[in-house]
Amino acid sequence: MLQVSQAQSNDGKKPSAVSDQQSTSTVARLPLQPAHDVTNQLLTTQQFVCSSGYTQKQCHEQLMILKKALAVYPVQNLGRWSWILVRSPDWKGILVPRGLDEDSPAFTFYPKRETFIEEALVSPVPVRERELLVKWSMSRTSLLDFAIRHELGHAFCNDPNEQHADRVAKLLEQKKAVTCETTARAERR
Ligand SMILES: [Zn+2]
Repeated sequence: MLQVSQAQSNDGKKPSAVSDQQSTSTVARLPLQPAHDVTNQLLTTQQFVCSSGYTQKQCHEQLMILKKALAVYPVQNLGRWSWILVRSPDWKGILVPRGLDEDSPAFTFYPKRETFIEEALVSPVPVRERELLVKWSMSRTSLLDFAIRHELGHAFCNDPNEQHADRVAKLLEQKKAVTCETTARAERR
């Protein structure tokens, strides 16, 4: 879950952990269709799927963009992981009932090793693109990269803490080795 930095103050209650728990049923509610192009050697441990509502062509084209953006990072170190594209018209309907910030274009669900990415990060979606630009002040390409690094921060460390995810995102941006906050792990388990 991406959050703007001003909103990152209430750490102790782990709101994102609760929110992500609430998203347990997301996959069950979204009939998934398998992606057809999982050929990149770097990404062999990664599964790519599109939610219902995608045509095969849209799914293929948008996944190519996602894979290209992911390939910059050591995603193979994640082990088995799923990346799920969700159409923008369906996005808010998933986030809002779960108390997630509708302006966030990505979130990770750790127990099932899944990261959900909104279509607007990989394809022009006029109205939504404008909303995201106003909120994040980043181009689509930059926001996709930012979102991927941030979600990888959660995924690599199995840590719902937003500040910790941003810290790992920065390490990834700087091409440094990923380290996790051991205290956060101890608290959670
Ligand atoms: Zn997050």
